[in-house]
Amino acid sequence: MSSYFKKYPNDQGFFEDYGGAFIPPALEVEMKKITDAYQTISKSHNFIEELRSIRKHYQGRPTPVYYCSRLSKKYGGRIYLKREDLNHSGAHKLNHCMGEALLAKHLGKKKLIAETGAGQHGVALATAAAYFGLECEIHMGEVDIKKQHPNVVRMKILGAEVVPATHGLKTLKEAVDSAFEAYLKDPENTIYCIGSVVGPHPFPMMVRDFQRVVGIEAREQFMDMTGELPDHVVACVGGGSNAIGIFSAFLEDDDCKLHGVEPGGRSLEMGEHAATMTFGTPNIIHGFKCYTLQDENGDPAPVYSVASGLDYPGVGPEHSMLKDMGAVNYDIINDKETIDAFYELSRLEGIIPALESSHAVAYGIKLAQEHPQKSILINLSGRGDKDIDYVVDTYGLPE
Ligand SMILES: *Cc1c(COP(=O)(O)O)cnc(C)c1O
Repeated sequence: MSSYFKKYPNDQGFFEDYGGAFIPPALEVEMKKITDAYQTISKSHNFIEELRSIRKHYQGRPTPVYYCSRLSKKYGGRIYLKREDLNHSGAHKLNHCMGEALLAKHLGKKKLIAETGAGQHGVALATAAAYFGLECEIHMGEVDIKKQHPNVVRMKILGAEVVPATHGLKTLKEAVDSAFEAYLKDPENTIYCIGSVVGPHPFPMMVRDFQRVVGIEAREQFMDMTGELPDHVVACVGGGSNAIGIFSAFLEDDDCKLHGVEPGGRSLEMGEHAATMTFGTPNIIHGFKCYTLQDENGDPAPVYSVASGLDYPGVGPEHSMLKDMGAVNYDIINDKETIDAFYELSRLEGIIPALESSHAVAYGIKLAQEHPQKSILINLSGRGDKDIDYVVDTYGLPE
C-alpha cells in the first residue's frame, strides 16, 4: 500500500499521464513553495498531533459505519454507510479544509481564499478559518450568490467575506478567475484552498492525503463489525475527494470492487449531465490534466446535475489514472434514481442524504439487487438538509 502512495503522484505531481501543474510562472513559484512546505510540515510530529486532536475533539471523528438493516432487507445485500454526514458541518469537505487551514497556520498565512459554486466548500473553509482565527475570502459568481442564499448567509455568520464575481456568466468559472486574481495580489499573506482533488499539484495530492482518514477509519470499522472486507465500496464523484478518501484504503484489495458514481443528470446529451469519466476525453483544465467534458471547440462543456456539488467538467487526475488502470469502475446514476434514493434512505433509515451522496446510495441499492449475497459499503459524503426545499418544491413528496 505505502508503495502506491510513494509512487503517486510523482515529483511533478503526475498520476501517470494526469495531473501536473499547467499554470503561469507566478503561480508556479507559489505552488512549489506550498509543495515544499507541505512535504516538510505534514511529516512533523506537531502537525500530525494537532490534526489528530482537531479530528477527534472538533470534527467528532471517527464518524461511524452504520448497517442499514431496513434498506438491506428491502433490496438485498448487506448495505453499510460511512457516515460523513456526521462529520462537523455535515460533510466530508471539512476533512481537507481543516488540513489546508492548519497548513496555512504553520506557513504563517493570514487569509484563506477560495472559490465556491454551490457554497459547500465556502462554508467548510469559513468554518476552518473561524477555528484558526484566520481571515477568509470566498469568491462566488453573482448568479450563484442569488441561488445559494442559505450558504451565503452561513459564510457571513462564520465571519467570511463573500466576494461576488460579476463578469462573464457570473458562475463557478468566473469565481475561480476572481479568486486566483485576488490570491496572486498577495501570495505572501494568503493561501488558495482548493475544494477537491483537482487543480494544479500539490492540491490533488494534499486533499487526497487529508481525506484518507475516511478510508482508514472505514476499513478498520468494517473489519471490526463483520470480520471481513466489504465486497463493494461505492462513492459519488464530483471532483473526487470523498471517493478517493474511501477508495484509498481498499486499492490493493483485489476482492474489493470500487465504484465511482457520476451524475447522469436529466439525459445523456451534452449539457444535461456531468459524467466526465464516462463521456470525457483527456485534456488540460484549470491547470491540470484529467478527463474533461468539452465542446467542439475544445472548451469546457456546459454541465448539469441535480446535485450542484457534482457538476464539474473535469475530475481528479488520480481518478483519471485509476479509470485507465481499471482499478475503479466508474458508472452513472441519473437525477430520477437519485431522488428515489434520497427518499428511500430518509424513509427506511431516518437519514436524509445530500443529493451528491444520494447518487452513491442509488448505485449501492442497484448493486444490492444484483448481488444479494454481497456486502456494500457506501460513503455517505454529506447530509441533505441543504437540499430539502429544492427536492420537495421540484419533485414533491412521495406517496
Ligand atoms: C462537494 C460535495 C461532493 C463532491 O465533491 P467530491 O470532491 O467529489 O467529493 C460530494 N458530496 C457532498 C456532500 C459534497 O458537499
